Amino acid sequence: MPIGTYANGCLRGGVALPLEGEGYQVVRPSRGRYWGHPRLISFIEDLGARAAAAGLNPVLVADMGRPRGGALSGHASHQIGLDADIWLRQDLPSLPESQREGLSSILVVDRANFTVGPAWSADHAELLRLAASDPRVARIFVHPAIKIALCETVTGDRSWLRVLQPWFGHDSHFHVRLHCEVGDTFCEPQAPVPPGDGCDAELYSWIPDPNNPPPPLAERPPPPPPHPMCTAMAGG
Ligand SMILES: [Zn+2]
Repeated sequence: MPIGTYANGCLRGGVALPLEGEGYQVVRPSRGRYWGHPRLISFIEDLGARAAAAGLNPVLVADMGRPRGGALSGHASHQIGLDADIWLRQDLPSLPESQREGLSSILVVDRANFTVGPAWSADHAELLRLAASDPRVARIFVHPAIKIALCETVTGDRSWLRVLQPWFGHDSHFHVRLHCEVGDTFCEPQAPVPPGDGCDAELYSWIPDPNNPPPPLAERPPPPPPHPMCTAMAGG
């Protein structure tokens, strides 16, 4: 049961993703961040199977959430069991668990030029297509340069581009967020992504303009109080 918002909530009845399965493997498993809603577990298992069927190397699953959700250091969200980070790294075969502990992600964006970099490949695009085509997915956060590259190259069905939301970071991993669904009584959804493929002026406005630098980031507001249904579970 997801409770609250993606950025302020918790999870009841979370389950662990098996550390490896068809077409996927968990990286840095000792961090213990491979818990989620059963729907997130199924999503990853299905994504792995579809990636394997497409001939891709294993999907590298990074941070999901804690057993009971809640704050996850290094992340603003990942609190209700419906978020998962997946590395944009498609060059590794199946590895034993011990060899997955010391792995690092790879930058696929050329930050200076605000384009995809030499590490970007068609396999990354295919993996994003497979993930974004899943109806359980509400949005996927990627670096704007990745969305721009896809907007400029994808032919045929482009409907899946809609759920790709440009955001800061996300240049060595992408972040999948699943919908709150009917029956998730206490799950508080975000506004849906707007219609259209999002290959528009808003996307291109992310490109830094040296003549018009962005204002300094405002100080972060204090965190909201925890969801009342989560405070009773605190300490666990
Ligand atoms: Zn994330």
